Amino acid sequence: MKGKVYLIGAGPGDAGLITLKGSMYLKEADVVVYDRLASPKLLEELKEGCRLIYVGKASSNHTKTQDEINEIILQEANKGHIVARLKGGDPYVFGRGGEEAEYLYDRGIDFEVVPGVTSAIAGLAYAGIPITHRGIATSFHVITGHLKDENDELDWRSIGALKGTLVFLMGVSNLKEIRDNLLKHGKDKQTPVAIVNWGTTPMQQVVEGNLSNIYEKAIEENIKPPSLIVIGDVVNLRKKLNFYERKPLLGKNIVVTREKTHAIDTIKRIEELGGNVISFPTIKIEEIRPNEELKEAIKNIKRYSYLVFTSVRGVDIFFKRFFDIGEDIRNMAGIKIGAVGDKTANAIRKYGINVDFIPEEFVGESLVDKLKKVLTKDDKVLITRAKIGRRELVEELSKISLVHEIKIYDTVKSEESKEEIINSIKDLDSYYLLFTSSSTFTNFIEILGDNRWVLDKGHIISIGPITTKTIEERGFTVYKQAETYTVDGILELLMKEKR
Ligand code: SAH
Repeated sequence: MKGKVYLIGAGPGDAGLITLKGSMYLKEADVVVYDRLASPKLLEELKEGCRLIYVGKASSNHTKTQDEINEIILQEANKGHIVARLKGGDPYVFGRGGEEAEYLYDRGIDFEVVPGVTSAIAGLAYAGIPITHRGIATSFHVITGHLKDENDELDWRSIGALKGTLVFLMGVSNLKEIRDNLLKHGKDKQTPVAIVNWGTTPMQQVVEGNLSNIYEKAIEENIKPPSLIVIGDVVNLRKKLNFYERKPLLGKNIVVTREKTHAIDTIKRIEELGGNVISFPTIKIEEIRPNEELKEAIKNIKRYSYLVFTSVRGVDIFFKRFFDIGEDIRNMAGIKIGAVGDKTANAIRKYGINVDFIPEEFVGESLVDKLKKVLTKDDKVLITRAKIGRRELVEELSKISLVHEIKIYDTVKSEESKEEIINSIKDLDSYYLLFTSSSTFTNFIEILGDNRWVLDKGHIISIGPITTKTIEERGFTVYKQAETYTVDGILELLMKEKR
């Protein structure tokens, strides 16, 4: 059976700007054929066993020709595969998507096009430039700046006479010719111009000027492809509408070293604030199975008067088992609940259960202090937590009440895609490394092996005193420690850092 090809627009750079349909087909693909402009983040969650074929400009030697690319796609489809042909922006906006589709049509291969958000519009939006604006620009024109082959085809006289916003793609290396031609054909020297480099990504950089000085400015700032050249009065709106570059973490590279699913919220927050996240999962969390002790405890939940949770993962594993066993939530009526930290408390609330106490401080000991005030010798406390949880908590509580501790998950070292991540860190001029626990740090060092330079080169940020101590004991310097010992504390700290 022949396969099928989806020509998918990846959007302009920000991975969140792919369409729902594009994302859906991408996750169904057996093979993804992609180029340089498609966000690498989109390649992180593909189907198990999905193959990646890079056909973009190689930094080293060979760039694939369009014929070769067509052939690769065809062959994969002929093998019966679902092929996602992922292209930056929209596949049909200077993306040669039309040629690929024609090639497939001629050879009887089924294909579908999933349009994308083009950089020609979205790249401007993220630079604070609306492509049209009432009273300022009533049309827009997207033009190739790749003048080598098409020089003769561009009708500069007509282009010079256009009143709408002009957007040149692939034009930085011909900026001088573009400027000269526009000036020669009637455009005013003062016409505002902006150049947007790597728009919608954390590397976004914008140079602003007018037709008479933009070339010199671009040279000064060493602007390279991929860049958009925007010409027209809409550029002036940037002063007010530039929401993206106002983001406090824009331009900051942040290595997040926690367990991946655990870190999802943190990663999302950092990205919303404009930061560039390099996800470096150091630990994987694995539920301890089988766990008869947990099953017994759940079945006899009424025996306990307090449940104490110390992590989101602990909460989720506990309740999953609770419901899997078919236990009735009414059996928990009257049992008090304690949670370390707001995140853990929120995780419990998701199950429709209120939390009776949450220690304000974020180190384990204060939970003990607080619990000491509310617990009596008649209480029976159930703590379900990580295998490597610190012993003090249980020891201290045992002095007051009867405590039953059940280990429900274990954290194991994760070596997933280590080489790739280390390579991507190599190219960064500066970055922050976030450590939210001692164990992530210890695991990180072990995973790094010979690559300790990763720690020396970056700024180490620690969540609190216990983690700091571990880092310092290992001979590394903590650049800064969060004032409040939470992820939010870390983010506040990062926002104060200079770009
Ligand atoms: N199909 C793509 C365009 C491909 S042509 C789209 O719809 O966006 C490649 C050119 O697109 C680049 O030379 C550059 O001019 C522009 N481009 C694509 N992504 C860009 C980005 N993130 N920032 C700036 N320019 C970009």
